[in-house]
Amino acid sequence: MTTIASNLQAVRDAMMAAAAKAGRRAEDIRLLAVSKNFASDALREAFRAGQTCFAESYVQEGLDKIAALHDLPVEWHYIGPVQSNKTRAIASNFAWVHSVDRLKIAERLSEQRPANLPALQVCLQVNISGEASKGGISPAEASDLAHAVAKLPRLQLRGLMAIPAPGDDFAVQRMPFAQLRELRDQLNQQGLRLDTLSMGMSHDFAAAIAEGATIVRIGTAIFGGRG
Ligand SMILES: *Cc1c(COP(=O)(O)O)cnc(C)c1O
Repeated sequence: MTTIASNLQAVRDAMMAAAAKAGRRAEDIRLLAVSKNFASDALREAFRAGQTCFAESYVQEGLDKIAALHDLPVEWHYIGPVQSNKTRAIASNFAWVHSVDRLKIAERLSEQRPANLPALQVCLQVNISGEASKGGISPAEASDLAHAVAKLPRLQLRGLMAIPAPGDDFAVQRMPFAQLRELRDQLNQQGLRLDTLSMGMSHDFAAAIAEGATIVRIGTAIFGGRG
């Protein structure tokens, strides 16, 4: 087995263990391979080992890999900051966007989503730890933005995404993930139908799964350090 294949297997095993411990079904949690900073050969290797969903954080880098891997049935997710001059490229080339945090951006993505493609699947990014340096809306802003985005015709609002401040204690890691889950539940009580919690990275995905993650976004544990 290659390193990437064995890393992937180790991540899948750890996800299954975390799901079992939480009394959840492993098939309700998707593994998204975060491939930023890795060349398309590494993605091919992961694809051969059974990985079909990949996430990119930079638009041009993502477009280059989408072109390089056009022969493979990959589902592409965009997880980086969305600038308004990049919305057309994102709407035309990705299946999902996890990092929507402004109505203006959501409106552009909806207008620019090509008619021949299914609705763009979106998550709202929530700055759950309240870090000044991070993107995302505050939890208090989530309700207004979610209801507005849910009305846009070419988007399907799927849920919430967060990148909490790093912590190494499991109980502490769980807290922001629990907050994101509670926020999702509140929005659903207001009539929305959000089925997705995009949360958990290499160092904290077990805690995210314990709190209900439905998509974990994992780079380093699959591909190695980004240097
Ligand atoms: C880079 C990145 C990840 C993956 O982080 P790792 O620690 O390498 O697993 C997940 N989500 C976002 C938004 C990222 O930018």
